[in-house]
Amino acid sequence: MNQITIGDFELSVISGGTMRADGGNMFGVVPRVLWARICRPDDENRISMDTNCLLVRTPDSLGLIDTGYGDKAPEKIRRRNCMEDGAPLLQNLNNVGVSADDLDWVILTHLHFDHAGGATTVDDSGNLQPVFRRARHFVQQFEWDDALSGRAEFAGAYHSDDFLPLQNSDLLTLVNEEHEIVPGITTCRTDGHTRGQQLVRLISKAQTAVYVADLCPTSAHLRKNWTMAYDQFPLTTRRTKPEILGEIADQHQIMILPHDPDAKIVRLQRSERTEFEVLPPV
Ligand SMILES: [Zn+2]
Repeated sequence: MNQITIGDFELSVISGGTMRADGGNMFGVVPRVLWARICRPDDENRISMDTNCLLVRTPDSLGLIDTGYGDKAPEKIRRRNCMEDGAPLLQNLNNVGVSADDLDWVILTHLHFDHAGGATTVDDSGNLQPVFRRARHFVQQFEWDDALSGRAEFAGAYHSDDFLPLQNSDLLTLVNEEHEIVPGITTCRTDGHTRGQQLVRLISKAQTAVYVADLCPTSAHLRKNWTMAYDQFPLTTRRTKPEILGEIADQHQIMILPHDPDAKIVRLQRSERTEFEVLPPV
């Protein structure tokens, strides 16, 4: 399922580009023999992933959550991660009749390249430019500070080309903790994967959908200890993930998974064996 209507909101998952990532990186401390049963790796130990961006149409606005990896990554990185050529997000938006200038707001859940890379591009003169030139972009203050901190432990995690042009073009709004973007759509800092990662709750007419960001990248990451090696604060993820997934399951909310190549919009239930499981589509 790639599309759902909740109340007055139309939600569509739009791919920001498929990719492959090292299975060991994606499952942290989980032994290969366990994760490989669920996500079959290729000959180079990589698993298939998508970058599931969410296009949100409200009665008064058009917005986007995350932007995929964009078109700036060097050839070596693109090859290693089997990334698509060109600008897959823009192509896929065009396929549903949306152009970059149609967007009013963009939420970046965090500033890693596979979420923020699609927010900027290089123009014909070689200058970095925002892609969504009319849109206000929302980032958590903690995330912004960490991404620009230059701290040695974040080396390689952030590329300022992905997000500095937003500030230079005055399209950036930094937010703290909980922040309402438009009526019914609220971001909330969750920490864990990065200190300033935010998830997004979308509520309309008593229905709720939650874009969980990399708190839970795929349906293979529902268990609290199945966290990525990329998590900057894995113990925080282990604590907050069951709380948030529990709320989604118990309150029959809809969940959007940011990297699952198949299960993109799902419902959850608690499970004795695996803590949570995805319900079959209705
Ligand atoms: Zn990610």
